Amino acid sequence: MKRIIISLLALAALLPAQISQAQDLPRFKKIVRQLSSARYQGRGYAKDGVRKAGKYIYRQFSKAGADEVIYQPFTLDINTFPGKMSLSVDGRELEAGIDFSMREYSPGVQGEFALYHIDTLNFDQEKIAADLQKPENAGCMVVCDFLYSYKHSKFFRELQKEGLYPNTGLIFTWAAPLKFYKAYGEKVIDKPIIWVTPESVEGAKSVKADIENEFLKGYETENVIAKVNGRRHDGCYVFTAHYDHLGNLGKKVYYPGANDNASGTATILTLAEYYAKNQPEYDMYFLAFSGEDANLRGSTFFVNNPIFPLEQIRFLFNIDMIGDDNPAIYCEMSDNGAAEFPNFEAINKEQGLFTAIDRAPLAANSDHYPFAERGIPCIFLMNENGSAFKHYHTPNDNFRTVKSGSYVPVFKLISSFIDSSSRNAEPTR
Ligand SMILES: [Zn+2]
Repeated sequence: MKRIIISLLALAALLPAQISQAQDLPRFKKIVRQLSSARYQGRGYAKDGVRKAGKYIYRQFSKAGADEVIYQPFTLDINTFPGKMSLSVDGRELEAGIDFSMREYSPGVQGEFALYHIDTLNFDQEKIAADLQKPENAGCMVVCDFLYSYKHSKFFRELQKEGLYPNTGLIFTWAAPLKFYKAYGEKVIDKPIIWVTPESVEGAKSVKADIENEFLKGYETENVIAKVNGRRHDGCYVFTAHYDHLGNLGKKVYYPGANDNASGTATILTLAEYYAKNQPEYDMYFLAFSGEDANLRGSTFFVNNPIFPLEQIRFLFNIDMIGDDNPAIYCEMSDNGAAEFPNFEAINKEQGLFTAIDRAPLAANSDHYPFAERGIPCIFLMNENGSAFKHYHTPNDNFRTVKSGSYVPVFKLISSFIDSSSRNAEPTR
C-alpha cells in the first residue's frame, strides 16, 4: 500500500503543471453567471453596470494572484435609455427588447402619432412624396421595412433633404429577434428611430410612445489590466476580451451579454489564474476592455496609450463570444499573425479540439482590430452560428442560453500555442 502511494506521488510530480491546474470550467461558469446577472445591468453606462463589472474584474485579477492590476480610465460620449420605455400600437402595449427596441442614436419620444406605412409592394416614389406632403400626414411617424429603406436609400435621402422624411420619426420593421445593434450613440439625431417587429405594426393606425433617452457626455469608464510576470521580459503575450455590453433598454430590460462577452472575460480571467500559478516564460498581459460595443473604444484608447511597448507583443489573443456550441471555431488573424495559422491548425488537429478553425478575413468587429492595424500578430477567436448565436445582442443572451463547451478547447488551443511558440523562441541574449 505504502509503495503504491509513493509511486502515485512520484507520478503526480512528473505530470506537467498544466494538467493539474489548467482550465477551470466551474470557475468559468461562475464568472459568466456573475457578470450576466442583474447586478451589472448589461454592463452598460446608464446604471453604472460597466463600472461595477470593472470593479469585479479588478478583484478577480487580484485574487487570481496577478503581479499587477490597474485601471486604465478613458471617457466616452454615449446615448443611453435609462428611463421610461413604453410603446403601444393601436392601444396594444409592446414589450421592450422583444417587440421593439431603439436605434442606438435615437432621441426619446413622447406622444401619440398617426402612422404612415410605406407601401413596399406597390412602391410608387411620387405617391409617397405627395402623401408625405399632405397636411393630414404632417405629424405622422413613417413605418418602413428597414432593408427596403436601405435598398432605396437614395430616394429616402432625397425626401429627407426636402424635410419630408421622416415627419416626426421613423419606425423600422425588422424580423424578430430585434437586435439592439450597438451602444455607440456617440451623438443623438433629431428624430426618433424605433425598431419594431413587422407583426407588431402591421396595418396599425397609431402609436403612443413614452420613451426617454439620456446622452452621457464624457462618461468615465475603464479598461482593467493585469500583468503576470514571466521569467523573461523581452517579449510578452497578450489576452484581450471586452467586458462591456449594451446595458439597458428602459428600467426593466437589460442585455445580460452572457455570450457577448462575459464568456471571453471569464476565459481571460481563468487564463490569468492559470499563469499566475504556473509562471510563464514570457510576461503576460490581460486586457479587459470597456467600450467595445460602443465602437471598440477601450481597445482603440489602449493602442493609442499603451502601458508597454506594443512591439513587444509576441502574440495577442482576442476572445469575444465563445459561449456557443458550434463544433467549429471562427477566427480572424492580422497580416502579421497569419503565418502562425498552420500552427493553430496543427494543435487543433493533434488535440482534437474543434472540427475546424474557420478563418475569415480581418474585420473591424472586435478588439483585435486596432492591434491588427498596428501590425501586431494576433488572432480573434469566436464561436458563432451555434444555438446561442440567435440571441446575439438581444435580452436573451443570458446565463440560460450561453454554452460553455468551447471554453476548454479554446483554453487548450491558446495555452498550447504559447507553450510551443515559447519553446521555439530564441534564448535570452
Ligand atoms: Zn462582443
